[in-house]
Amino acid sequence: MPIRVHSESHVAPVVPTVALSRPVGGSGTSSGETSSSETDAVASPPGGVMEVVGPVEPWNRPDPDRLVVHTGQRQALWERLVLGVFIAMPFLALVCALPVAWVFGWVSWLDIALAVGMYVVCMHGVTIGYHRCFTHGSFKPSRPLKIALAIAGSLAIEGAVNTWVGDHRKHHKFSDKAGDPHSPWRYGNTVPALAKGLVYAHVGWLFEPEQSDKSAYIPDLLRDKDMVRISRSFPALLMASLLLPPLVGALMTRSWTGAATAFFWGTLVRLGLVHHVTWSINSICHAIGERPFASRDRAGNVAWLAVLSMGESWHNLHHADPTCARHGVLPGQLDSSARIIRWFEQLGWVRDVRWPQPARLAAKRAP
Ligand SMILES: [Zn+2]
Ligand SMILES: [Zn+2]
Repeated sequence: MPIRVHSESHVAPVVPTVALSRPVGGSGTSSGETSSSETDAVASPPGGVMEVVGPVEPWNRPDPDRLVVHTGQRQALWERLVLGVFIAMPFLALVCALPVAWVFGWVSWLDIALAVGMYVVCMHGVTIGYHRCFTHGSFKPSRPLKIALAIAGSLAIEGAVNTWVGDHRKHHKFSDKAGDPHSPWRYGNTVPALAKGLVYAHVGWLFEPEQSDKSAYIPDLLRDKDMVRISRSFPALLMASLLLPPLVGALMTRSWTGAATAFFWGTLVRLGLVHHVTWSINSICHAIGERPFASRDRAGNVAWLAVLSMGESWHNLHHADPTCARHGVLPGQLDSSARIIRWFEQLGWVRDVRWPQPARLAAKRAP
C-alpha cells in the first residue's frame, strides 16, 4: 500500500500535497484510503497508506530510506472517548488550579507535597524509563530498577509502556516527515498551518484510530516478560495513580475534605501538568528553539521547559544523538534525568550508560 502524493485534498487544498503522518488502514488489512485523486505513487510500504495533508517542502519530502510505515490495531470510539475524559479532566483542573488556591484556599501543604512528589516520580518514570531506557537504550538497568521505572512511567497515564515506546520509536524513525505520528509541520509551514499542526502534535494525534504496530517497533519489549506484564497491568496502575493521592490525603487528615483536595492537586493538577509538559516536547520543541546540533528534522532546544520536563526539552541534541543518556550536554543546560541516571550508575543499579562523548558531539555540531 503506497504513500501517495496527491494533487488535491479535502484536508488542505494546497498543490501538491503529501502526508506528514497519519497512516490510514492497518497492517494486513484493507487500505481504508479516503483521499482524492492520485498523481504519483512514491513507494509501497507494507503497513499503510498516508493521508494527504500539507505541502511538500524540501525538508518534509518523503525520504526513501524511511518509507516503511508500520501501522497496527485500531482504537475504538469508546477508547477515544475515555481518552478524552482522561485528557480533559486534568486539563480543566490545571486551568482552575490558581483560582482554587487563591480564591477558595482549597490547598494544603500536604496537597502540594503530594502533587510535587507524584509529578517528580511519574515524570522521571517517563523521561528516564519510558524514553531514555526503554525507547533508546541509553543504559542497561538492573531488573528491579527496570520494573520500578516502567511502573513509575505508567503512573503518568500517558499509555502503557509498550504503546508509548512504539509511538516514540516511530516518531524518531520518521521525525517531521511522512510517517511521524506527531509532527507540528504536517499541514505545512505557513502560520495557520503551523498553528493547526501544533494542536495536532500536542494532543490531536492521540485520538487517531490507528495505532503503531508493536511487532514492528518493539520486538525487544515484546520478548521481555516483565515489560509485557507491566504493559498489561496499565489499567491497574492507572487506578493506583488516580487513587494514591486521595488515599494518602484521607489517611493523613482523617477527613473527606482532605481526600478531595489531595485528589484535585495530587491527581488531577499533577496529571494535567505531566501531560502538557510531555506533549510540549512533541509540539513546541519541534516548532521553535535553538538548533546547535545537526539533526534530520526540526527538533529544537527550549530552555524554559528544561526544569519542568526533567531535561527533555534539550530536544535538538536528543534528535541529533538519540541514544545519549544526557540531553542537556552544553554548559548550564539543566537535565535532572541525566543527574538521576548518574546516581543510579554510582549505586550500581545501571550499567553501560551512553554518556556524551566530546568527539562525537563535535562531529554533530550544526554547520
Ligand atoms: Zn522529537
Ligand atoms: Zn526520543
